[in-house]
Amino acid sequence: MRIQNYINSELLDPQGGKHLDNIEPATGKVFGTIPDSQSEDVQMAVEAAQAAFPSWSSLDHNERAKYMFAIADGIRARFEEFVAAESQDNGKPISLARAVDIPRAISNFEHFGHAITQFSSESHSMPGVAINYTLRQPIGVVGCISPWNLPIYLFSWKIAPALAAGNCVIAKPSEVTPLTGYLLSEVCKEVGLPPGVLNILHGTGPAVGDAIVTHPKIKAISFTGGTTTGKIIAAKAAPMFKKLSLELGGKNPNIIFADCDYDEMLNTTVRSSFANQGQICLCGSRIIVEDKIYEKFVKDFTEKVSRMEVGDPQNDGTQMGALVSKSHMEKVLSYIEIAKEEGGTIETGGHQVKLDDRCSDGYFVRPTIITGLSPNARCNQEEIFGPVVTITPFSSVEEALSLANGVVYGLSCTIWTSNIKKAHNLANEVEAGVVWINCWLLRDLRTPFGGMKASGVGREGGLEVLRFFTEAKNVCVKL
Ligand code: NDP
Repeated sequence: MRIQNYINSELLDPQGGKHLDNIEPATGKVFGTIPDSQSEDVQMAVEAAQAAFPSWSSLDHNERAKYMFAIADGIRARFEEFVAAESQDNGKPISLARAVDIPRAISNFEHFGHAITQFSSESHSMPGVAINYTLRQPIGVVGCISPWNLPIYLFSWKIAPALAAGNCVIAKPSEVTPLTGYLLSEVCKEVGLPPGVLNILHGTGPAVGDAIVTHPKIKAISFTGGTTTGKIIAAKAAPMFKKLSLELGGKNPNIIFADCDYDEMLNTTVRSSFANQGQICLCGSRIIVEDKIYEKFVKDFTEKVSRMEVGDPQNDGTQMGALVSKSHMEKVLSYIEIAKEEGGTIETGGHQVKLDDRCSDGYFVRPTIITGLSPNARCNQEEIFGPVVTITPFSSVEEALSLANGVVYGLSCTIWTSNIKKAHNLANEVEAGVVWINCWLLRDLRTPFGGMKASGVGREGGLEVLRFFTEAKNVCVKL
């Protein structure tokens, strides 16, 4: 599969003529190539986007919404192709791509198609003196950079609101998972999205990603990825006074009280720990359990997790697929070694899995549970972003809160209890941008989404992201 850039409605090879290999994580084999784009490709895309901006931004919002719905329908029409591509490219179980990733990409375009028709701005009256009204105008050409864990899900989560708000977009999926981004460009061609409105460039972060971040005509950057990369991007974009939205890493606590609905908690905790091989920024990688049920929980959870099957992502019944790349698998395994050195006990997992046949060289790791680590251990502090969780006991609400907040991150938190007062109080105190009580990953796309502390700056979702992708201008009229 030879992937191409999408610039000005054309599918093009990079100007420098260089390509990178695209590797299937389940087999460890090259199955295609992607453009190794550079700054000259970004320049070409920016020129196309600038030319498209006047007519796209002045298009009636209902007309822009129609394009969003057409793109959603275009993905729907090729649903199984998107599903297969996402699973092959990322290593995730095909059932997950079918149930979550591709439906969500469709919803993202539909949601922001509807949202833009409901977007309004404020008016502030100074009785008898003046009336102020706020214009919320599209910014211009904006950059959207997304990671590999939920490739089309997160890519479309940025592109859809940016386009709906009237901006023209230069977007870059991760070089590790470019395939559904490429399919999206085919869909945009099929539905006749005007040239230059959306441009999709493939290549590495340091080359094409950096060229997007530093291009003077790209006025805003919406980035999702690691905290280290976020720091680099913030340092480069800030002196250029670009608008920045940064959705970064996490080390999310999953706080479990003895008074919770135990069975529901147990089933959901398996999912919140290991869905997508633990490679979801919202996974609860630090399980914090009230001491009264600690022993029972460790036993029951370990039993359930040790029965999980790791298998070929293409098989419908597979629960756990491959990690996204060899280097990522090695990073995850190295953290398991660190945990052992720090005195942790591996309750289950802790090693690579060698599968048969076509997957014999794939990047599979058994779901891993670690106990006995101190809260300051590296595996309790640093983001591993794989199928590895730690379990730590607590004896009071104060201790649970202190453990939950005792990391640099602040993305999400899950709380399990039947005591509603305790749940609300804790939700109020916990340092996280997203809190789930007695559930996990229950998403309403209208809600603000994002993290605090080292997990990011700004919020995506609903009207928050439409505000990000527009510039507010106050107009004061003297009466
Ligand atoms: P990275 O930060 O490595 O990469 C994210 C994106 O940025 C990729 O497209 C990457 O390109 C690009 N990139 C890398 N370096 C630069 C640079 N210098 N300038 C511009 N762009 C660059 O993250 P991962 O892809 O490894 O994703 C995993 C991380 O994402 C985890 O930390 C996870 O927590 C976080 N994440 C956060 C979410 C949130 O909502 N807060 C949601 C999902 C994930 P390339 O890959 O081609 O090098």
